[in-house]
Amino acid sequence: MSIKDRLQKLRQGLAEKKIEAIFISQPENRRYLSSFDGSSGYLLITPQNTILATDFRYIEQAKIQAPDYEIFPAIGGIVDWFPQLVAELNLTKLGFEAGHVTFARYQQLSDILNKAPSQLRLIPVDGLVESLRAVKEPEEIELITKAVEISDAAIEYIENTVHIGMSEKEVAWEIEKFIRERGSETIPFDFIVASGPNSALPHTKPSSRTIQSGEPVVIDIGARVGGYSSDLTRTICLGTPDDTFPKVYDTALRAQLTAMATITEGMSGGQIDNLARKVIEQVGYGQAFGHALGHGIGLASHESPRLGPNSADKVTSGMVFTIEPGIYLVGWGGVRIEDAVVMENGKVRAISKAKKMGA
Ligand code: ZN
Ligand code: ZN
Repeated sequence: MSIKDRLQKLRQGLAEKKIEAIFISQPENRRYLSSFDGSSGYLLITPQNTILATDFRYIEQAKIQAPDYEIFPAIGGIVDWFPQLVAELNLTKLGFEAGHVTFARYQQLSDILNKAPSQLRLIPVDGLVESLRAVKEPEEIELITKAVEISDAAIEYIENTVHIGMSEKEVAWEIEKFIRERGSETIPFDFIVASGPNSALPHTKPSSRTIQSGEPVVIDIGARVGGYSSDLTRTICLGTPDDTFPKVYDTALRAQLTAMATITEGMSGGQIDNLARKVIEQVGYGQAFGHALGHGIGLASHESPRLGPNSADKVTSGMVFTIEPGIYLVGWGGVRIEDAVVMENGKVRAISKAKKMGA
């Protein structure tokens, strides 16, 4: 699908909300709608115009990456150029990204418009571009698959490299090097390598703690290709697992496999979360699964849809998301198993292939 097709869908969505135009400031939304990946810039999309405002550092890059756009040189602060940007467009309602624009920026833009002669008013819009982004095109799935292949290879590499006595930081750095050497553009999020009791903290940072025999080690990593992220977690155990490990691990794995086998198109994020949560609750670990089951991946490593308790997001064909149940026991440690899947032909297909203990 081309940028033109994405813009057409966006305009349709705006028309349904009776909003003439939208001001895009969220970086991934901007990239999705324009292909421009500079670190500063805004889009203004009306029924007739597609304008990309950026400063002198990015003008040439914008011309090349976003040929569907008219490039507007943003000179000075937003107070200086925003009035000019909207001056001749004859708009009355301009949507802005309520989930991204700060209150201070909103006030600033409102002040500018109040002083201008036009009747232009700002209208909050939430999740419109995000909902388009949630459904992936085949080219996007291809890029995600490439990122997934890199993280799969990294897990295989680290499982062969890691040994008792290595620190979490050393392991994280080994993975980071591997992923970059394999062609990942960047590290899409801070990797998690958490051993023993540290692994009971779902989002802890790698420390200098050394890995001991028999304890869980949670490794949560990703890669980025063409802007698209992967997100993969494996829990491993070096030496002979203690008595708790198999019970916790098997429960998390069963929860994940149950969800993956029973998700059907059209289910809500809440229903999907419950498929896995029930399995964990039946074993008595319900309280130990304190986060959502999964999230979309794409240009952002966390995006729509959200699969968690009470999420009404409907899962439809082309969506790519993670399934990552976790069980965290304070003082002992945790187990999380995460794979990326794509919804197709009414069911989910796992994209990640990294092997799992016991599966
Ligand atoms: Zn993850
Ligand atoms: Zn994740």
